[in-house]
Amino acid sequence: MCGIFGIVTKNQEISVGKVVFEGIKRLEYRGYDSCGIVSLYNSKLFIKKEAGKIDEIHKKIKLDEFPSGSRLALAHTRWATHGAPTKQNSHPHLDCFDKIAVVHNGIIENFLELRNELTSLGHTFKSETDSEVIPHLIEDFMKKGNSFKDAIINALKKCKGAYAIAVCQIDNPDLIIVARKESPLIIGIEEGKTTYCSSDIPAFLPYTRKCYIMEDDELAVLKAGEVQFFDLKSDNKLIRKEMQTIEWNIDAAEKGGYDHFMLKEIYEEPDALRFTMKISDQLLTKFANALISADSIYITAAGTSYHSALAGKFIISKFLGKHIQDMECSEFETQLKCSLQDNSVIIAISQSGETIDTIEAIRWAKKTKSVKILTITNVVGSSITRYSDHVIVTNAGPEIGVAATKTYSTQVLALALIAVSIAKTRKIISNEEIVKYQDALAGIPNIIEQFLEKNVDLIKYIVNNLEKNMNYFFLARGISIATAKEGGLKLKEVACRFIEGYSAASAKHGPISLVREGFPIIFIAPPDETYNRLVGNVMEFKARGGRIISVVVESDVKITKLSDITIRIPQPADKFHNLFSPITFMPALQLLAYYAALAHDLDPDKPLNLSKTVTVH
Ligand code: GLU
Repeated sequence: MCGIFGIVTKNQEISVGKVVFEGIKRLEYRGYDSCGIVSLYNSKLFIKKEAGKIDEIHKKIKLDEFPSGSRLALAHTRWATHGAPTKQNSHPHLDCFDKIAVVHNGIIENFLELRNELTSLGHTFKSETDSEVIPHLIEDFMKKGNSFKDAIINALKKCKGAYAIAVCQIDNPDLIIVARKESPLIIGIEEGKTTYCSSDIPAFLPYTRKCYIMEDDELAVLKAGEVQFFDLKSDNKLIRKEMQTIEWNIDAAEKGGYDHFMLKEIYEEPDALRFTMKISDQLLTKFANALISADSIYITAAGTSYHSALAGKFIISKFLGKHIQDMECSEFETQLKCSLQDNSVIIAISQSGETIDTIEAIRWAKKTKSVKILTITNVVGSSITRYSDHVIVTNAGPEIGVAATKTYSTQVLALALIAVSIAKTRKIISNEEIVKYQDALAGIPNIIEQFLEKNVDLIKYIVNNLEKNMNYFFLARGISIATAKEGGLKLKEVACRFIEGYSAASAKHGPISLVREGFPIIFIAPPDETYNRLVGNVMEFKARGGRIISVVVESDVKITKLSDITIRIPQPADKFHNLFSPITFMPALQLLAYYAALAHDLDPDKPLNLSKTVTVH
């Protein structure tokens, strides 16, 4: 995920450099590891790019200063997916002759094949990014006689994956061509004067409220104050699109119309998961092989990542047939001082890749024994990757809300993808079963989308009911204990409530003494092998006057009958979907925490005493 912003204008008063600089500053929440700007003037491209935060870069190289006569500029703020956040890898990327400049948001999945093909044709690459294949492909088609627009169309036909792109070319100095598939792109327009393209609405809102929202497989040709749209799915034919008028203010627009980043990021989960699913089979196989050949396996993390570790170890060990020891990263050295052995594999999980306790744990392990480190992080090139043998980047995009939401579900998904890769490599289940697990994984984003569409009022109703009570529990068994613990953590983080996630079986050994008439207990109850025993636990709590709220699948009957309120997750009741319920059941609890924070007049984006990245012990 990154931010793209572009302008083409007739207005002589405007400094295009200043406008695009301010544009990407308003998009910085979408990506902030490096940035770059290109402007076109007198048949020449002028480029400034650098690694770091926009303001720091601006102090060094004056990002808003470009030739005053230039009427066209493109800008990009990057959230790296391929290649570390360096100057070389930051956008824009150019062709071999510095004639074509491209900014790209998304992932070109087949970039390695394309890069090899283009290299064999004599193209020289300057970055490690997937994006750089795009200007070279366009160059190639233009060399064959294609117009600028046709060259882009043909280049995109060769690209698999997701993109929003904006392109300029020196022989076409008065136009920007843009296209989108899966990554957002909006066109803002001041008719007859200026046209903008942007990854999100807020970046052009100070200049115009009139815009067109681009759909997948559309291409647009932008001239100053005018725009034409083409449908790439039906013979690139010219199409008419409805102009929209935006009523939001800038602050609301940055949050995509949501009141808080936390809520926006919960709603981004389906798309974030779709991006995580693009992890290559090759990389998953590397993780699978390392785990299969390990003598001992540990999984380590802190906070929310530790809960994803708990869910992930359950899913992976099912197909690996080996025990995986979970360990809080802060305890790793202390607890393993006398027992860590050579040929161990450690799975380390850190959203930011900067969590100091996780980094120290793996640094210590590497220094002490011959171990392999497999890392899951959301940030390319983060510190943790320096100590890792293999790295999976979840590609959830930046998360601004301090409480992790979409980065939790994408971490669990990455672990689930490793698990299925292990099942394939070890051939311990039939091919038909593997396909069913893969289908269940592929269906997760739709399940979450459907849930979010229909259940917000129910969650608000439950919050209004629950928040009269000072205490309640999340209880579960088996794999869902991770979900219960993460649900409890979200409430602690954003709603400042001491709500515990606990094993439903262990709750009899103490916590049950808190139950009085009307005491609420939330049971996480997918219909897996623990279900019947959980029914028994529900009855124990009900018998003591507990008010039962349960999270169940659509077709649930038994626990529904025992419950006062049910939250129903729209997924089939089979073992394939049950295994991934830590992902599909979690948004319900995240929403609960979000609305609980609002009920207490707290800002869910800025929980008390917390910071997003914990870089101290
Ligand atoms: N895949 C591209 C890169 O790593 C674009 C990433 C983005 O969308 O920010 O440069």
